[in-house]
Parts: sequence; C-alpha cells; structure tokens
Amino acid sequence: MFLCMFALKLAILLALCQYIDMVCIYCGGNTRVTNSRPQVRSNQVWRRRQCNKCGALFSTTEKNDPGETLVVKVDDGNQESFLIEKLFLSIYESMKYRKNAVADAKYLTQTVINKLSHSTNNGVIDSKLITKAVLVSLNRFDKIAASHYLAFHSN
Ligand SMILES: [Zn+2]
Repeated sequence: MFLCMFALKLAILLALCQYIDMVCIYCGGNTRVTNSRPQVRSNQVWRRRQCNKCGALFSTTEKNDPGETLVVKVDDGNQESFLIEKLFLSIYESMKYRKNAVADAKYLTQTVINKLSHSTNNGVIDSKLITKAVLVSLNRFDKIAASHYLAFHSN
C-alpha cells in the first residue's frame, strides 16, 4: 500500500515536471501559450505567451542548443564542444568593416547553424564542414568578407 502511494505520488510529480512553464517577465506570474508556430527552416518553435496574473504578452522561441548537442571533430582528430561564440567571432572578424557587422554576423551565424544541424553524423561535425558552410553563406552575402574569412581559415 505504501509503495503504491509512493509510486502514485512519483507519477504525479513526473507528470507535473513536464509542464513546468515560463513565468511572466514583468510580475513572475504563471503564463499560458496563446499562439504557437513552427519555423521549419530554422527548426524552431515560436510561442506567444500571456500572463495569468497581469495579462502581459510576450514571445518565446524554443530551439536546439548546438552548444549542448554538437561536437566538432578538429584537424588533429580530437573532438571539442561546439562553441557558438567561436563561430560568431570568426564570422564577425571577417566582416567587421561593415556598418551593421554585429547584427549581420549574428544573422549569418544562425544561418550556418541551421545548415549544420542538417549535416551532422550523430551530432559530430567535421570542422572543415563548418568552414565550408560559412564560406557558402558569406559568398552569397558579402564576397569581400568571404575572402577575409578564407585568408584565415584555409589550410
Ligand atoms: Zn505578469
């Protein structure tokens, strides 16, 4: 009997844990999702939320965290964690002469991550594939930035 009650309480707790939700960014109250849209190209889910307490509306985006899920196979055969910041900086460095370099580099970083997320082998990605994906995106966006990038990333 005691074990049964324990199992029941555990099942309820586990069920509740799956519904841990975001709190309101203004008052800390519980929120509910009022609208939700999948963004297929970027493999993200956009959600509109409303606070049950103060009624405030705000948006959230659910997406894969490549820093937690991707591993990079580097030239010496070793593997290291995928660092979004490293990718961003390499793109930013190649285009920092642009007026909106930070915003452009941020946008291109996400574009490259979207491409890479479709070409991993069990979450492992070759560093050469990252370089290639950056070059393809940069060539379409800014050929001067692409040649800057190539100067620092060609072997
Ligand atoms: Zn609120």
